[in-house]
Amino acid sequence: MQGSSFITLKREALQNNIRFLKKKLGNHVRISSVVKANAYGHGIEQIVPMFEEEGINHFSVFDFGEAVRVQNSLKNDKDIMIMGWISDENVVETIKRGIEFYIFNINRLNIALQAASEIGIKAKIHLEVETGMNRSGLTIKELEEAISIIKKNPGIFEVKGFCTHLAGAESISNHVRIQKQLKTYHKLHRVLENSGIIPEYRHIANSAAAFVYPKSRLDMVRIGIMQYGFWSSIETFLRYTHHEKDPLRRILGWRSQIMSIKEVNKGEFVGYGISFLAQANIKTA
Ligand SMILES: *Cc1c(COP(=O)(O)O)cnc(C)c1O
Repeated sequence: MQGSSFITLKREALQNNIRFLKKKLGNHVRISSVVKANAYGHGIEQIVPMFEEEGINHFSVFDFGEAVRVQNSLKNDKDIMIMGWISDENVVETIKRGIEFYIFNINRLNIALQAASEIGIKAKIHLEVETGMNRSGLTIKELEEAISIIKKNPGIFEVKGFCTHLAGAESISNHVRIQKQLKTYHKLHRVLENSGIIPEYRHIANSAAAFVYPKSRLDMVRIGIMQYGFWSSIETFLRYTHHEKDPLRRILGWRSQIMSIKEVNKGEFVGYGISFLAQANIKTA
């Protein structure tokens, strides 16, 4: 090894976390493994094959580039979903590759319509609705418009999912807001189903929501942070474990070659900008 410092990924920790999540979420809830932001810094190319080996068969990313990286890291075909950015010119390629993607406004739906018609391949879409986070998503009026576009163009779209994002489930202070979001979501879902469009997966929960509000699990959950061994907040951790041992384990580790060992007396400072005060006689590396 050339460098003096390196990052490690612990396969056993990853297996432990995925097995814990599967056990707790049950057989009826599909897990979409969120590997956006380069798998939360762990490395898409390193992490995705390990998740695949643990039986994960759905992956969520933020943009087109990440989706391609996930696809290239997989041994076998698995479902990949883009929750965010695709530049207009990449929509055709996204559909050709069979990658699922969010429809969060009418413009995006029209671009998908044009692209799918052009190449004669169905666009696998997830309709994202606005329920209170105010980031992206279709309002009720836009949803109605989307429904009419989808129905006027049979054979163009495969409605894979109907989703929203529950904001702030990691804090009890958002309880009322979350309940309101859930209500709005179910109302919008009825609008969709009354039109005769039945989405394959209803999904709204991230890690915190899946554990704090089991009712939010629906057909699929989008689990990010917990896979990597972290709870969404101290609150979600305590609420689940009741101060018992943490069932999750950190995947990421950091190892370094030791260059020099020193004894430091109590009351002395260590480091640049005297950043550490020794509270006892210690040995530093
Ligand atoms: C990041 C993200 C998730 C995963 O969130 P975690 O809190 O890490 O589980 C789920 N859904 C969407 C839309 C996200 O952006």
